[in-house]
Amino acid sequence: MSLFNTSELRRFREEVRDFLQTHLSEELRHETRGGLHMAREDMARWQAILHRRGWGAPHWPQALGGTGWTALQRYIFEEESAFADAPLGDVHGLFLAGPMLIAEGSDAQKARYLPRILAGEEFWCQGFSEPNAGSDLASLKTRARFDGTHWVIDGQKTWLSSGHHADLMFCLARTEPEAKPQAGLSVFILDMRDPGITLQPILTMDEGHSVNAVFFDNVRVPADAMIGAPNKGWGYAKDLLARERVNNAQAPRTKRDIVELDRLARECRGVDGRPLIEQAGVRRKLAVLTADFVALESAALSVIAEQMRGKEPGPAASTLKIRGSELQQRVSETAMALLGDAGLVLGADYGSGLLHPAGRGWAERHFFRRVVTIYAGANEIQKTIIAKSILDM
Ligand SMILES: Cc1cc2nc3c(=O)[nH]c(=O)nc-3n(C[C@H](O)[C@H](O)[C@H](O)COP(=O)(O)OP(=O)(O)OC[C@H]3O[C@@H](n4cnc5c(N)ncnc54)[C@H](O)[C@@H]3O)c2cc1C
Repeated sequence: MSLFNTSELRRFREEVRDFLQTHLSEELRHETRGGLHMAREDMARWQAILHRRGWGAPHWPQALGGTGWTALQRYIFEEESAFADAPLGDVHGLFLAGPMLIAEGSDAQKARYLPRILAGEEFWCQGFSEPNAGSDLASLKTRARFDGTHWVIDGQKTWLSSGHHADLMFCLARTEPEAKPQAGLSVFILDMRDPGITLQPILTMDEGHSVNAVFFDNVRVPADAMIGAPNKGWGYAKDLLARERVNNAQAPRTKRDIVELDRLARECRGVDGRPLIEQAGVRRKLAVLTADFVALESAALSVIAEQMRGKEPGPAASTLKIRGSELQQRVSETAMALLGDAGLVLGADYGSGLLHPAGRGWAERHFFRRVVTIYAGANEIQKTIIAKSILDM
């Protein structure tokens, strides 16, 4: 019997479905379906609606704006949202900055920042990676010096997702150059409008703009802009990256994509003019993807259940990240194979092409998804974490 098949959870699913039906406009659904890199105003609009309903951050503690749902309720909510094409919102604020502030922030920081993340009023970005510090993050060179009243930050970061949407950044910088690389790092909150911050767009191969380089030239931030204790940033960053990896597994949205593949296989035709689903090889491919998805979903559910009990995900996040990211890539590769020529459409309006209307969305997703095995820590690095922390090698 499915874990979800209780009368209470069926009622809950209906409640979520009704809410989405009533509040999620066709315009927002269309934007989410067709565009990978959504406009900030669309994400903010949806976040404000969720917030008014009390569903702005289901995974946060209830006292700070969470819903108090069980892991299964949270999963149902995410699944229904994925199938309804609801925007994801500001993932950096909701899933990264928010939980880090909840765990390590001062009361003043929580009071200042958390309500605005919940309401969709302020967006965040993550300033960790540098041109020569990606996998080897601890070798980062961005420096923060205390001048008696302020921290003064110099250096540069790269691959800043959504930096151009963000009001604020959580930034990992070196505060103790003499210490071991991991021991001398701290996390700061930067206002993106601070003098000395320069943002430069980076275009990705899907022709979209979602990432940026950023340069810090004498950026002065007040003493209370540090999150947690000085020189403890490495530990905070490790917890944050584990949360990011859980989130990146994206099981509910992958489920929606697999259902979409089934539809494509019924609609698209082979050279013999017959629907592709009639080919045994296509059916086998969909069956293997579905089986792998079921394994991912049950692993994701057990990690979410632990998180809802207040436990940090730890190295299990690395297994989810590898499985989830590889599956996302296999799903979009399969979509491109099913679509054939129609899959190559990039740049036309979603749904208005002469070729198969689903073409554009898939081409963008396919190209952009080359990144899912790289960001939040490349999969090779996740294998090293698993070898060390789980297999004790
Ligand atoms: C689109 C995109 C968005 C991103 N968003 C953000 C963001 O918002 N904020 C942020 O801080 N960062 C972000 N990143 C950065 C991301 O976390 C890094 O790209 C990632 O950690 C890899 O670092 P790197 O690019 O420097 O590659 P490198 O570390 O140079 O790695 C290159 C290759 O070598 C392999 N490799 C490196 N070291 C080892 C090793 N020890 N063992 C085995 N293999 C190894 C890697 O697996 C990889 O395949 C983003 C990246 C991309 C592409």
